[in-house]
Amino acid sequence: MMPLIIKDEYPEKLFREDGKRLDGRSEKELRPIKMEVGVIQNADGSAYLEWGNNKIYAAVYGPREVHPHHLAKPDRGVLRVFYRMATFSVFDRKRPAPGRREKEISMIVADCIEPVLFLELYPGTSFEVFIEVMDADGGTRCASTTVAALALADAGIPMKSLVSAVAVGKIDGKKVVDLSGIEDKAGEADLPIAITWYNEEVSLLQFDGDMDLSEMNEFLIDAKEALEKIHKIQLDVLKRKYLKLQEETKNEEEKEGKKGDD
Ligand code: UDP
Repeated sequence: MMPLIIKDEYPEKLFREDGKRLDGRSEKELRPIKMEVGVIQNADGSAYLEWGNNKIYAAVYGPREVHPHHLAKPDRGVLRVFYRMATFSVFDRKRPAPGRREKEISMIVADCIEPVLFLELYPGTSFEVFIEVMDADGGTRCASTTVAALALADAGIPMKSLVSAVAVGKIDGKKVVDLSGIEDKAGEADLPIAITWYNEEVSLLQFDGDMDLSEMNEFLIDAKEALEKIHKIQLDVLKRKYLKLQEETKNEEEKEGKKGDD
């Protein structure tokens, strides 16, 4: 397992002698990703994501009454996202109260996802997405966007498409995909990108670091390739859920049919 961030102890080199990254990945390789839906019984929809060392839950409620009431909009629904990092999710105990970074990431995730919802069809209501990062190791805003979109789909909320996100960047002068925590801190550039699949538009593009503008196109090409892999995992998880439901309904119907015959 890749070492987690330990404050002020960044390695000098982010590539090993054998040319691999510290966690053994090649430049364009994603960390292992595992997703599940329907993991929280008390939510309308939910999802869980393990992405490398990141472990993140998302729970969705809505459409429902807006609290506090003054946030309600008469002509459309509102999407509210609450991104939180557990106190134990990082090496140096995170303060339990939500900080500026958490508020900013909540806003970013909401902005990334809002374009795929039909909020105009739900006046006066809210959709709320609660994101809990249990373990953090770089790229949690991208992972949170990805798992939040999946939880909304699990809740059966009409969506134009899913949203996927990934960070690309530069470490030791080389372009890489899906930066880990150490790579994010010790590398030269970090570029989180989200895509709304129904129109293939970029709904998030942030940039932190040092990079030549002429490299942008290559970053986008690498990101698109990675995003397609992430999207496929999201779709596969949802497909599995519906196949299971279909199977259960069929079994129920067969049972009912048998009872009718008796
Ligand atoms: N991090 C941390 N303590 C904090 C906030 C972040 O150790 O209070 C770590 C965590 O692993 C996070 C990484 O730094 O994933 C990068 O944080 P950043 O703010 O760049 O957001 P992210 O890459 O998670 O979207």
